[in-house]
Amino acid sequence: MKFIGPMRTGVLLLMLQASIAVMAQQTVDGIRIRPDPEKTRLVFDLSGPVEHRLFKLDKPARLVIDINNTQLRETNLPAEIAKLSNAATPIAAVRFSPPGQENLRVVLDLKQEVKPRSFILKPIAQYRDRLVIDLFTEDQQIEHPLQGADKSDWQAREIVIAIDPGHGGDDPGAIGPGKLYEKKVVLSIARELEAIADHTYGYKGVLTRQGDYYVAHRKRTAIARENQSDVFVSIHADGWKTSSANGASVYTISQSGATSEMAKWLAEKENRADLIGGVGSVSLDDKDDMLAGVLLDLSMTASLSASLEMGEAILLGIKPISRLHKKNVEQAAFLVLKSPDIPSLLIETGFISNPGEARKLASRKHQKALASGIFKGIDQYFRRTPPNGTLLAARLQANEPVFVTHVIRRGDTLSEIAYRYNIGFEDLKRENSLNSNTIRIGQTLRIPQL
Ligand SMILES: [Zn+2]
Repeated sequence: MKFIGPMRTGVLLLMLQASIAVMAQQTVDGIRIRPDPEKTRLVFDLSGPVEHRLFKLDKPARLVIDINNTQLRETNLPAEIAKLSNAATPIAAVRFSPPGQENLRVVLDLKQEVKPRSFILKPIAQYRDRLVIDLFTEDQQIEHPLQGADKSDWQAREIVIAIDPGHGGDDPGAIGPGKLYEKKVVLSIARELEAIADHTYGYKGVLTRQGDYYVAHRKRTAIARENQSDVFVSIHADGWKTSSANGASVYTISQSGATSEMAKWLAEKENRADLIGGVGSVSLDDKDDMLAGVLLDLSMTASLSASLEMGEAILLGIKPISRLHKKNVEQAAFLVLKSPDIPSLLIETGFISNPGEARKLASRKHQKALASGIFKGIDQYFRRTPPNGTLLAARLQANEPVFVTHVIRRGDTLSEIAYRYNIGFEDLKRENSLNSNTIRIGQTLRIPQL
């Protein structure tokens, strides 16, 4: 991280920080950036409401953001700052006023002229106050603000979740006690996840396989890309040499090696599936693999950090439902996760080789609960960083509370819905002004999301 002006000595810095503690009222706890074709958006996550001011300086082009009574909290910021001067944005560098001043000044050194726009978002759900700065380059038009826009001509899109049930067809995946096939269990969980996404405002699920047939790894990621997916989630339930291994895990790709021995073993096992599934050689043999590798390295850095962040959210979502095998997201070289542009995760929903866990994995109720936990994690992630142009982003910008809409299907019960969405039974009834426990197919329930 760079500071404006010379760095001070450690002693002086300490003294200054001691005096700030009294003065500073708010902190910038994080900075996020989302470049897209329409604009570059900077979001400052704040500890509370602030006043701010923007102005431009030229020769060279700079944008100055003054935030009153605010200090920079340094946790995790350096990594974020490095991303800000990413080639895809008009920002060349970001500088901050040195610590120890009442107000925070942020200077963006610009590669080109920009039209800035800024606004404050009030706290909602798990979000606190945010300061949003949008930068429009000459060939990007300032869009009309969402507030007051006619909903009917607002072309917001749904967030697309590509759901990949592992294995299929000749490749059964792991086989548990009583001939419980991984390919069957994961298809059920994937279908539940698709149903939850489709019934939730602002989301859409897309399955990479609809039935019991094999799909090559490359085809799976291609389906995700064709559908312009925002995330790719591969669902598995694996086996291990000993029946005592248990718990769910979340994996993301690693270019440089696995984080654990089991991660490595699982990746090798999952990658072999293309051979079992009868698709011929695994794509690693492609002659353009070296070039692909270079491109992957470049573009994966961005989607990898998103994958890790989403993976952590999914672990939190699953935690109330299943024991976790590892409490952090693990990394390994899974072929199916090699999408440079889409955050990709592989979820081991449990060990089918463990008799107790296999029994749970085979049950409809547990499959639904797992799907709901996974969805909750994905939703948490997207509500923190809603992709531009999505219905969810529009709703969050309009500061509307977020509700999940559930359309009653055959076999649904109120208690099961409450369980699935992790809401109290009575709260669910109250929210929907229900006087009895009777529901009918097609009826819509509003479920507040915490
Ligand atoms: Zn598997």
